[in-house]
Amino acid sequence: MSPLGERLRAQIARTGPIGVDTFFASAMGDAEHGYYATRNPLGRGGDFITAPEISQVFGELIGAWCVAVWRALGAPDPIRLVELGPGHGTLLADLWRGTAAVAPEFIAAVRLHLVEISAPLRACQQDALSTLVPQGAVVWHESLSEVPDGPLLLVANEFFDALPIRQFVAEGGVWRERRVGLSADGKELAFVTGSEGDLGEDFAPFEGEIVERCPAGEALAAEIAGRIAHCGGCALIIDYGHTRSATGETLQAASGHRRADPLMRPGEADLSHHVDFTRLRIAAQEAGAVVSGPIAQGLFLGRLGIAERGEALAGAAATPAVGEAVRGAVRRLVHPGRMGVLFKAMAIAHPASPDVPGFAAAMQAGR
Ligand code: SAH
Repeated sequence: MSPLGERLRAQIARTGPIGVDTFFASAMGDAEHGYYATRNPLGRGGDFITAPEISQVFGELIGAWCVAVWRALGAPDPIRLVELGPGHGTLLADLWRGTAAVAPEFIAAVRLHLVEISAPLRACQQDALSTLVPQGAVVWHESLSEVPDGPLLLVANEFFDALPIRQFVAEGGVWRERRVGLSADGKELAFVTGSEGDLGEDFAPFEGEIVERCPAGEALAAEIAGRIAHCGGCALIIDYGHTRSATGETLQAASGHRRADPLMRPGEADLSHHVDFTRLRIAAQEAGAVVSGPIAQGLFLGRLGIAERGEALAGAAATPAVGEAVRGAVRRLVHPGRMGVLFKAMAIAHPASPDVPGFAAAMQAGR
C-alpha cells in the first residue's frame, strides 16, 4: 500500500467508508501524497500519453481552429485563451508556433490563462512556453473561476476524464452509492455499498449494474457555458468517452502505461473515467449555450486538415524513417481502432454564433 493508502485505511477504520469521488479527489489532489503533487504523469517515462504528446500536428490544428473561431467571433482584442490542465504545455507551444507566422494579429490579441493544480506540471508548462510567449502574457490559475471575464477560447484535452466521479450500484432493486471501505480483514481498501442514492429515472436498477456520475464535470460544463453565453466565445472539449449516457464501470487506474487496480496504490497511479458527453451537453445547454457534437476525434481532425498537414510534415522530414513516424502518429490520432473514435470532440458556443469550424456538417448529438 502507498503512504496515502495507509492514511486512508486508518481514516476509514476510524470514521467509516468514503465516497468514490472523495477517494478519487484525495488520490489525485492530496497536497502531500496525491498524484498531482508528486508526479509528472505524461510521456514515455510517465503513466500515459496524450494526443499533443503524440504529434505536433494536434496542437497546430487546434491553433488553426482557434484562429478560425476567433475570426468568426469578430476578432475580439483581447481574447482570453484558456487551457484547462495543459499537461506539459505541448499543445499550447505547438499552437503558438503554428499560428505565430500565419496569424500574428491573433497572437497579439491572445492573453493566455492556464488552469493547473499540479506544481510539477506548472513548471513544465513554464519551460515549454518560456522562449515563445512574452513574460506577462501568461497567467496560471487554480480554477476557471479565477480567470477574468471577457470573450474566451477554451481548450480542454483529456481534462474532464480526470475529474472525480461518484459510482452507484444496483442492489435489491434500488441504486446504492458505491463507497471505498475496508476488506474483511481490514488490511486493504475495498469497494462497499452504502445508502440509497437518487439517480432520477435514467436507468432501471438491474442487479449488479454500475452507473457513474461526474458532478464536478457537469458543474464545470455549466460554468464554461454560462461564461460563454454571457461574454461570448467558444470551448473545445476533447476526451475519451461515450456520446450517450450508459451504464457500466469506466473508472480506471494507469501506472507505467499499464492498467492498475484503482484502490491498490492511491496517489501513485493516474485515475480517470470515460466522459459522459450527454450529461455535459445537457449541463451546457441548460446554462444557455449551444453545443455542437460530440463527434469522433478522427472526423474532427480530418475536417481540420490532419491528412494534408501530416503529409506536408512527413514529406519535409529529415529521413524516411522520421517521415514514417509522423505518418504513424497521425494514424494513431485518427484511426477508428486507435484514438479516432473513442476520443470525441464537443464544442460549447454562444447561441448567436455561426457554425463552429470542424462541426458544421456534423449532426447534433441526440437528434
Ligand atoms: N491536456 C494535457 C494533459 C492532460 S492530463 C494533454 O493533453 O497532454 C490532465 C491535466 O489536468 C494535468 O495537467 C493535470 O494536472 C490537470 N488537472 C487535473 N485535475 C485538475 C483540476 N481539478 N484543476 C486543474 N488542473 C487539473
